[in-house]
Amino acid sequence: MNHDRTKRLLPAYADRQTGPVRRFFLGRHIARCPSCLAELEVIQAMRSALRTNLPVHRAPPALAMRIASALPREAPPPASRRSFRFGFTGAAMAGSLAGVALTLAVTRATPPDAMVADVVADHVRSMMADHLTDIPTSDQHTVKPWLSARLDLSPVVKDFVAEGYPLVGGRLDYVDGHRAAAIVYRRDKHVINLFAFLSGDATDAAPRQESRDGFNVVRWRAGGLTYVAVSDVEASQLLAFVRLVENG
Ligand SMILES: [Zn+2]
Repeated sequence: MNHDRTKRLLPAYADRQTGPVRRFFLGRHIARCPSCLAELEVIQAMRSALRTNLPVHRAPPALAMRIASALPREAPPPASRRSFRFGFTGAAMAGSLAGVALTLAVTRATPPDAMVADVVADHVRSMMADHLTDIPTSDQHTVKPWLSARLDLSPVVKDFVAEGYPLVGGRLDYVDGHRAAAIVYRRDKHVINLFAFLSGDATDAAPRQESRDGFNVVRWRAGGLTYVAVSDVEASQLLAFVRLVENG
């Protein structure tokens, strides 16, 4: 993905409006291009400022009831869906303050596990695009400085070959709005992607395991970094891997 094309698609990227493959290539360009990264950060800062600073006007109960009674009774649109705000007819909603309040409420209801969806997608694409690593080597003393030189962070990088989790290499990635280190391991035939990026929250947090689309995901915070391990290995094996990294 070249620079001009990426630049044009940055707003769509920030809004998660791009398809998975395009998103992958955009993310790869952004991770390497300071100019696109800076522009994306401005867009994201603007969006989040709008979300947090715009006043929310609550609809008076009478108006809320009128809107509710105007909606089709058989199939009320679920409030959690983003398309909700496009689902109203002009007659019910046109220009009312209630419309503003509802739109904001729905915009705020981003699923809390958007980051999990993002890392699972990154994990899948890292294997699909035949670009698992930028620096393919099992030498931790090569991978770690390579990543540190390109990202302002120094994650745990260690070859756990004796424990059955050999280091395969490292890669620059872009996860949920953060430039991230992707440290790649194998467990038998399975790939484990370990993402690390700067935490917004500096406190440590114990590992939390969840599953999505057949993949296991474990995330935790340590030393100012958020770590997310993703793989299709069994949860117990992924947790054993996480314990190695934690003690590494
Ligand atoms: Zn660029």
